Amino acid sequence: MKRTLSVAGGLAIAAAALVAAGTVVTPQAGAATTTVLVNGAPDISVDSVRGHLTQLQTIATANSGNRAHGRTGYKASVDYVQSTLQSAGYTVSVKTFTASGATGYNVIADLPGTDPNKIVQLGAHLDSVTAGPGINDDGSGSAALLSVAQAYKAAGLHPTQTVRFSWWGAEELGMLGSKAYVSSLTAADKAKITAYLNFDMIGSPNPGYFVYRNDATLEALFVNYFQTLGIPTEKETEGDGRSDHAPFQDAGVHVGGLFSGADYIKTAAQVAKWGGTVNKAFDACYHKACDTSANLDNTALNNNSDAISYGIWQLAGSGTTPPPTTPPTSPPPAGGYFENATDVAVPDLGTASSTIAVTGRTGNAPAALQVKVDIKHTYSGDLVVDLLAPDGTVYNLQNRTGGSAANVTKTFTVNASSEATNGTWSLRVSDKAAQDTGKIDLWGLQF
Ligand SMILES: [Zn+2]
Repeated sequence: MKRTLSVAGGLAIAAAALVAAGTVVTPQAGAATTTVLVNGAPDISVDSVRGHLTQLQTIATANSGNRAHGRTGYKASVDYVQSTLQSAGYTVSVKTFTASGATGYNVIADLPGTDPNKIVQLGAHLDSVTAGPGINDDGSGSAALLSVAQAYKAAGLHPTQTVRFSWWGAEELGMLGSKAYVSSLTAADKAKITAYLNFDMIGSPNPGYFVYRNDATLEALFVNYFQTLGIPTEKETEGDGRSDHAPFQDAGVHVGGLFSGADYIKTAAQVAKWGGTVNKAFDACYHKACDTSANLDNTALNNNSDAISYGIWQLAGSGTTPPPTTPPTSPPPAGGYFENATDVAVPDLGTASSTIAVTGRTGNAPAALQVKVDIKHTYSGDLVVDLLAPDGTVYNLQNRTGGSAANVTKTFTVNASSEATNGTWSLRVSDKAAQDTGKIDLWGLQF
């Protein structure tokens, strides 16, 4: 997130390091991943992401300690990303722009989809501030996108929509690279972009799990994914409008993204959710020299990299798991599905519950329990929707994210693997604001 430097003569140094050291910045072979996520998307290896971060650290160390716009460290970072993508089989375009009297570079690579008129675009900024190497800000997002791009190629995936990976320059000077890119697009180009997802700082050492709230569908996408991991999320507020999603949002594109926190302080309530240290910044090295490869949390880096992969496949791929936005038209195959279609009124400022008694099953519920929900309501933003397991454990499905839209008609994925399957499950719907009412029309559980 948002702030130059002059070009040192280190270009020669960087080039030498590139050639001589060989391994220092040679592209890493795309690690074919064998494990997949709940929706069939590749599970991203955190070692692959860390490997790229080690290279970005090496580049910064070899270039006056930073990878800032207009400096050799930035150009070397661009060269690294470009050659890594080319080795993975991508056609890469490096687009230049001018900022603060220096040439900047945006790196773009497409994974073509069967529908050329639809594009899911993802971005991270590749530049750092002058004060440090910017390994969390935003080497973490840049490295994760690189590993995701490699994994998708290695897995031989053919999405429906084109997946466009972007690495932006001069973000720290005020999103100048992404602004230059967006302003170079025609109206027709912009109309093709069905979603832009931004990843600026996703490996903070005292991490939080923040989801951009700019678009309800894109927000729910990530909230749902983290629920499959049993990780609660919060709405992203700290970086509101302060990163590369802003030019896309201004151009009318649906935007979303993930963030693990910068210099805001972690509260006790957040420590209860995510662990870590109370009363300490999510990233105490934000914009400092100490934002090095030692300034990362591997678990957050891994979870967020996987969430990126999951999100792409939900949006651009076929997605082997039903997408959370459209309920299945007909009940899933017999045996594992239980439903309650009795209407239950949701009173204004009140709570309604509907139960399903599950019998004849063995063992625990699955890690990807499908909860089909059909709630009729005139103002879904009023609603808090929870699933209660037989032992009373509460799984929040939706927390007042609907805005003024009517109804909640979705299938949620819940990691219920610690719950016994047999027993009485409940759907609880609480109306938290006055003047609107509705009913639970139907809900179901697919084990
Ligand atoms: Zn940043």
